[in-house]
Amino acid sequence: MSLNAESTAFRSALEVIRAVEPRVADAIGAELADQRESLKLIASENYASPATLLTMGNWFSDKYAEGTVGRRFYAGCQNVDTVEALAAEHAKELFGASHAYVQPHSGIDANLVAFWAILADRVESPALKKAQVRQVNDLTEADWFALRRELGNQRMLGMSLDAGGHLTHGFRPNISGKMFDQRSYGTDPATGLIDYDRVAEAAREFKPLILVAGYSAYPRKVNFRIMREIADSVGATFMVDMAHFAGLVAGKVFTGDFDPVPHAHIVTTTTHKSLRGPRGGMVLCGPELADQVDRGCPMVLGGPLPHVMAAKAVALAEARRPDFADYAQRIVDNAQALAEGLLRRGTTLVTGGTDNHLVLLDVSGYGLTGRQAEQALLDSGIVTNRNAVPQDRNGAWYTSGIRIGTPALTSRGLGTAEMDVTAELIHTVLSQTTPGANADGTPSKAKYVLDPAVADKISKQATDLLAGFPLYPTITLS
Ligand code: PLP
Repeated sequence: MSLNAESTAFRSALEVIRAVEPRVADAIGAELADQRESLKLIASENYASPATLLTMGNWFSDKYAEGTVGRRFYAGCQNVDTVEALAAEHAKELFGASHAYVQPHSGIDANLVAFWAILADRVESPALKKAQVRQVNDLTEADWFALRRELGNQRMLGMSLDAGGHLTHGFRPNISGKMFDQRSYGTDPATGLIDYDRVAEAAREFKPLILVAGYSAYPRKVNFRIMREIADSVGATFMVDMAHFAGLVAGKVFTGDFDPVPHAHIVTTTTHKSLRGPRGGMVLCGPELADQVDRGCPMVLGGPLPHVMAAKAVALAEARRPDFADYAQRIVDNAQALAEGLLRRGTTLVTGGTDNHLVLLDVSGYGLTGRQAEQALLDSGIVTNRNAVPQDRNGAWYTSGIRIGTPALTSRGLGTAEMDVTAELIHTVLSQTTPGANADGTPSKAKYVLDPAVADKISKQATDLLAGFPLYPTITLS
């Protein structure tokens, strides 16, 4: 492949788009320029390969393909079958799973498919059994009533949001917290770590149908063997949402007790975070749940997105190459270097460090809320997101934390030396920012004061740092 093939492909695509709606073509170009210039530390973002990106822009997008491979509700799906089967095959090989369902449009959708599959498998409702064998029309009013009561009355035990869990792990305002009678486990206030004895105690008391592990903002490994033992001890189905760390599982950084696939009954993930694929979701499971999982569409999901399933096949093929293991290890090395750099400069980190791709800063030591810190960093060309810390006194909106992650910068090629420079930039911004006041003089949780000259200087240093690591170096748009 000539080096210019990628440039040619993207330039040609933009030319075609520009002829119809030039503002969209301009926005696409501007987005690349913005991404090239900013120090992206959003833990859930990455840069997919040109091959993955290009796979999404074609006529697979036009297809309807409800059903599963070889068993569709629409004619003419033979090519969709090819790419869906390939994506599933790559996923099974990569993760050592016996079944992979690659249709979910996102991580939340994958979780909904898993919840449905577990309910459908575990709830002993005669009405549900009837519905399962497609005798929905035979259900009486009383059946419907019983079905709603039984499905909506099940228990879920998941990690609390402020300890690092995800909204869909039973957070009250989320549908999962409404579907399920929910309870959460947190972390040890002294160490910030999961206390497995406390999880076991909560499981014994609450007897959940589903025990959920996985996180969006927990900077440590989770021992899935112990979690499975807890689930088994109370007869719960053990579900792991590995959306954030799927790339570390794929790259064999997380193995043994820390690889969820051999331990969980069902595993869900996104494909676009550390796994570096297209935006989307996926479910892995054993044969017991496979039939229910495959009913995801149309039970829970809208029609599959064949162009994205094709891109999943490409990205998963990339993740099966030997160099992906090296990439995954570098993600963790970089996160640890960043954490050490921050600790050396006096920053407080939740759990005191990291075992994975993310670092959670408690910025209250700088006298700031997460919101103030996030905006001050953004003014300085450093893109992060605010995040609650355990027992956060500022709540989920303003927060006291900043979550940073290394998958994206690692994809650009930055290494541990650059992480130390990044730690210095972050520390400089945070230590030079002070909280602002409202118009009436009361302290504000959103306003902040940062000398624009400092922000400009840091922005320039961030740009200089990135200059040695061009993003999509093979692509020039003009
Ligand atoms: N699960 C976890 C643990 C996540 O962190 C996220 C995203 O932030 C999701 C699920 C949802 O993924 P998506 O945005 O693709 O629906």
